[in-house]
Amino acid sequence: MELLNIKDLDLANKKVFIRCDFNVPMDEFANISDDRRIRSALATINYCLDQDCTIILASHLGRPKGEVESKYSLEPVQRRLHHLLKREVMLAKSVVGEETIEQVKNLKCCDVLLLENLRFEKGETKNSKELSEKLASMADIYINDAFGVSHRAHASVEGITHFFDEEHKAAGFLLQKEIEFFGNITKTPVRPFAAIVGGSKVSGKLEALVNLLPKVDKVLIGGGMAFTFLKQLGYEIGNSLVEDDLLEDAKKIMDEAKRLGVKFYLPVDVVAAQTFSADSVSKVTPAQEIPIGWMGLDIGPATVRLYREVLADTQTILWNGPMGVYEMERFARGSSKIAHFVADSYATTVVGGGDTADLVQRVGVDDEMTFISTGGGASLELLEGKVLPGVMPLVTKEN
Ligand code: AMP
Repeated sequence: MELLNIKDLDLANKKVFIRCDFNVPMDEFANISDDRRIRSALATINYCLDQDCTIILASHLGRPKGEVESKYSLEPVQRRLHHLLKREVMLAKSVVGEETIEQVKNLKCCDVLLLENLRFEKGETKNSKELSEKLASMADIYINDAFGVSHRAHASVEGITHFFDEEHKAAGFLLQKEIEFFGNITKTPVRPFAAIVGGSKVSGKLEALVNLLPKVDKVLIGGGMAFTFLKQLGYEIGNSLVEDDLLEDAKKIMDEAKRLGVKFYLPVDVVAAQTFSADSVSKVTPAQEIPIGWMGLDIGPATVRLYREVLADTQTILWNGPMGVYEMERFARGSSKIAHFVADSYATTVVGGGDTADLVQRVGVDDEMTFISTGGGASLELLEGKVLPGVMPLVTKEN
């Protein structure tokens, strides 16, 4: 898929509206705990600054319900941007309030203005035409660099694109990179190609699994979603997470994998716990011997060994979803061991999904991965084969 390219635009001295994804995690004191998403936007911002553009940055943060909530102010993002860009970054008092519109009018060459949280406006998530128009009126050029929200038809992502023709809108470098990476990896992967799919539920990843099957050579299942498959195979899974209404789908996926010759791996042992808590009694059991009333919360050591062997000859690894409840130390071992192995491999390694990105960072191997996507939901929808609503208006050529 080819997108309108920022490099083809005549940007010199223009006012540029850049939709970024600055939805960063913060601790209880409003300190940014991971600024990857802010750092990822710098290439586009600096490129525009090099062309003497005036920059209007816009993002959402958290989930304010269409009204101003000070805890969701973009002030911490403004401070981090100031630090990273090493230049003044102004924070507007609102998104499209009168004062802000006036401030935008008075911006000079190379000024950088960050609008307040887009979701302080009700119209943002409703893709309101009125809001889209107001946002569009601020600038000559629109750039979407917010991969993480490109699967949402929101005013600053989709609606706004209708107010710019093809010479005045484009994808930023981050969006280009994400789309290119997922496109290449699913279309022309170097083989053997393995997908590690984990996380809590089959339901959230069903479509992605179905779409991945014809493309990969191996699928390795972990996390809570494994138990729906194990139950379908007739195993006792105790109180483990399960989606009974998807047992049929689980069977179809396994049958389809067999038909396509795709190797489909499930955990052979698990770390089972009596309760869903960090200090629960726990033990390693074979996947076929989970005691009644216990629940599997991580893959066990035999599965880690098996998965290492399965991954050893792969050239491309796509990983979406943790192998266990990695937030609790006792159930983080499987995910951590797999993360180290993936990081050490010579394969092209692509990590998608907020939890998996968080996990590899906690383990300290984020720099070893080939590519970490900034978008969880967006990367999953891409893997499902969808064209994202925020990307669609920027497509010049479909494959
Ligand atoms: P997802 O959003 O579907 O990628 O799921 C990520 C979540 O799955 C994480 O918060 C994990 O704690 C959770 N998870 C992983 N393995 C299990 C499991 N065996 N049982 C329950 N939750 C799990």
